Amino acid sequence: MMSRIVMKFGGTSVADLEKIANAAQKVQQEVDNGHEVIVIVSAMSGKTNELVGWVKDSAPSGGLYDRAEYDAIVSSGENITSGLMAMRLQEMGIPARSWQGWQVPVQCTGHHENARIDAIPADNMNAAFKSGTKVCVVAGFQGIMADGRIATLGRGGSDTTAVAFAAAFEAERCDIYTDVDGIYTTDPRIVSNARKLNKISYEEMLELASLGAKVLQTRSVELARSYRVKLRVLSSFDEDISDKVGTLVCPEEEIMENLRIVKGVAYSRDEAKVTLLSVADRPGVAAAIFGPLADAGVNVDMIVQNISGEGRTDMTFSCPVDHVALAQEAMQKAKDAGDINFVELVKDTEVAKISIVGNGMRSQAGVASKMFQILADEGVNIRVITTSEIKISVLVDRKYMELAVRALHDAFELAQEA
Ligand code: ASP
Ligand code: MG
Repeated sequence: MMSRIVMKFGGTSVADLEKIANAAQKVQQEVDNGHEVIVIVSAMSGKTNELVGWVKDSAPSGGLYDRAEYDAIVSSGENITSGLMAMRLQEMGIPARSWQGWQVPVQCTGHHENARIDAIPADNMNAAFKSGTKVCVVAGFQGIMADGRIATLGRGGSDTTAVAFAAAFEAERCDIYTDVDGIYTTDPRIVSNARKLNKISYEEMLELASLGAKVLQTRSVELARSYRVKLRVLSSFDEDISDKVGTLVCPEEEIMENLRIVKGVAYSRDEAKVTLLSVADRPGVAAAIFGPLADAGVNVDMIVQNISGEGRTDMTFSCPVDHVALAQEAMQKAKDAGDINFVELVKDTEVAKISIVGNGMRSQAGVASKMFQILADEGVNIRVITTSEIKISVLVDRKYMELAVRALHDAFELAQEA
């Protein structure tokens, strides 16, 4: 069997016919290198937002819409780019064919709008390769439910399509082509001397992705870790696509220069903090609060419980700003039903979350206190703190977010080579 690779092109890399032609050049290089190639494409940048907008504008009052139809509509952007890419490759003399999710088939389960890939039977596409196809161009982000309806994988889902194909077809590599040349120590738009990492471990990438670094969909990194897919992020606008460029996401053991304790600083701008003042301090209270929040679809992140004395406690949690109204409604309902009892709900919608991430924190003490000292020196007040084995997150006032990111990036010397 010939060696296979997966190349995924994001929305900015297929934004118009010229960009598609540029991406096709990269595909040609890999075909010339002797690979069979599975190309995964996103919709042209902005297209999916437009389609989602049409769905929302057509929704009946109340805003609820049929999620299976959402998928039918919103998946269509990828149909266009997959066909255009296949045409372009054919034009260049490369035997290429487009594949929509249902044709492969990419079998999905779960809920429409946020489906999961269950299996990708390889027979159809293998037959195509066998009979001479060199490039299969797959519409990312989409699949088919057991009942035959079209599914989509959640925003950013074509990354997950790419990794799933790399796993299913035992690809040598999964290259994610985008408009940045790799994963950085922090967002270069905020910190001008942010440094590109040559390698980062799955675990660290997973934290960074879920903490708001938007280069890869979090689920794609989880999948890559489970199946040990060699995942690389690189720019589709650089000439060079050799091993020297981009950032490789790989097992921790493969990173020699793993001396640095903190690898990156991530942020998430639009967070909110909600506190329920004076709830009863008794068994079951947390369940009575967070159960209804989960049912209402509130994405709760950090949680802190304070004792305020005399059998009462304050409960604080954070969630996306967009979810505050939902949270408020759910808490009021639970209060009216007599399930919980709080004196007041206080919200702060002007906060941001900042996190530092690094595998080295597992074995190194003192990282948290250093982080807090750096923020203190800048006069940044910390509202809430949470930690995991390899990350520390704090909630701060949004107006200090950029200052805090810069200060941490500097003080942990992330701009310098390790
Ligand atoms: N086009 C989809 C989105 O914008 C999927 C993707 O690009 O990954 O979310
Ligand atoms: Mg993306």
